[in-house]
Amino acid sequence: MCTTCGCQVTAGNEHLVKGDGKLAVTEDGKAAVTVLQNLLAENDHQAQHNREHFDSHQVLAINLMSSPGSGKTALLEATIEALRGELKIAVIEGDLETENDANRIRAKGVPAVQIVTGTACHLDAHLVHQALHQIDLHEVDILFIENVGNLVCPASFDLGHHRNITLLSVTEGDDKPAKYPVMFRAADLMVLSKVDLLAVLEDFDPVKAETALRQVGGQAEVIALSARKQQNLNGWLDWLRQQLQAQRERVKAGKTALPSMQSDGWRLHGVDPHHHHHGHSHHSHEHSHEHPHSHDADSHAHTHTHTHNR
Ligand code: MG
Repeated sequence: MCTTCGCQVTAGNEHLVKGDGKLAVTEDGKAAVTVLQNLLAENDHQAQHNREHFDSHQVLAINLMSSPGSGKTALLEATIEALRGELKIAVIEGDLETENDANRIRAKGVPAVQIVTGTACHLDAHLVHQALHQIDLHEVDILFIENVGNLVCPASFDLGHHRNITLLSVTEGDDKPAKYPVMFRAADLMVLSKVDLLAVLEDFDPVKAETALRQVGGQAEVIALSARKQQNLNGWLDWLRQQLQAQRERVKAGKTALPSMQSDGWRLHGVDPHHHHHGHSHHSHEHSHEHPHSHDADSHAHTHTHTHNR
């Protein structure tokens, strides 16, 4: 797991970094927990900046999350094909290693930036910001951010996107929402992928998967599809069109949308959400922008005055 987000803190070793644990104080005298909180606060600040950048270009930004191998990249390939000539798409790919997925996207004629995270099990807002310098958002309607394949850490990091999508492939267990509640509660949409394989898989029950989602408090819409066999793609494409339309209307009204984020995700990362300035514990909602936006990588002088607007 990664060394920057605190997800290496477990119930088994937290005594080392908390209280008077032997790792509770860093070499320069700061409390380890404070360092983690500060990193997450910086992430949120950068995420807000990213979101303003998307909004100023009327771009809808979507964070795609799942286990490794659930078909995120395949879904993007099918989506690019289906929307060719209708909507302009760009992709940021996050993987521990290789440029493979970005190459697959580029082969479809769409701009893709690969972020290689090395050991980090998730993307963060700073990594996304760096990637944005390689994308001309004037030429983008929907930006997909394909997160690192992982069902835990990515749900806890705001990248500046507007919507979270969690894929659950029918080759996985239909109890995954019960096992990874944070990730599935964070979803604005749950995509059941590879449903063409249901015919040969006896163990996966889509009804049980949705029940498991509801039982952990997930409010996500559910769309079942097969990217490879082009099954039920229309429901997915319509969802995207509706989300893009909603984004454009929000921007016109001076508003933005935050993805679902989970305060228990912060706790998983060793941070008490009540001490965190954002304190995400809401489902998706809209925020008002009350400041003009300028994208200047060197300027952090702008102020954020978000007002809750539920
Ligand atoms: Mg992939």
